[in-house]
Amino acid sequence: MGDRAIVHPWGVRLQEFGYNGVMALREILRYPDPRLREKAQAVLRVDDDIRALVRDMTETMYHAPGIGLAATQVNVKKRVVVMDTSANRKDLRVFINPVIVESSGVFGVEEGCLSVPGVFEEVERAQKVVVRALDEQGEAFELTAEDLLAVCIQHEIDHLDGRVFVDYLSRLKQQRIRKKLEKHLRMAM
Ligand code: ZN
Repeated sequence: MGDRAIVHPWGVRLQEFGYNGVMALREILRYPDPRLREKAQAVLRVDDDIRALVRDMTETMYHAPGIGLAATQVNVKKRVVVMDTSANRKDLRVFINPVIVESSGVFGVEEGCLSVPGVFEEVERAQKVVVRALDEQGEAFELTAEDLLAVCIQHEIDHLDGRVFVDYLSRLKQQRIRKKLEKHLRMAM
């Protein structure tokens, strides 16, 4: 690892964010890893350790590339999520201890997951959610999200609770996905 020049398009944003040193890509757990089932704990204090985790998760998400990443997916049991659903990848959102306080409507898009590579399936979600969370400075905020952003928030909070989007699919589909990914894992090793 060690210090590296920031050459990524999102580098500016990370500097605004207080980036000034080492960042690291974290390994993303793959379904059906049992560690994806562990429930994350609330963050008690948003300190430099949490901000370092947020920076690593941000880099890992953009590098993958993905539109959202929960700390559970990098084997950290803390309620931290990073997300960027924008087309130009310059709209990073950080959610610490996110809680959905209102949800309404029905909506579905084909979801994918960095922990379930190569699988895209539609899941029924709320179309609109109101979420409360802390940002990377520990400030509370509330956000009303619709459609893709709302789905992404629900998907990532599920990760913090040990759920994966595959859980919503039929048992047969779940078995197929499990077999496919276990086979990939064996080939990789
Ligand atoms: Zn996911």
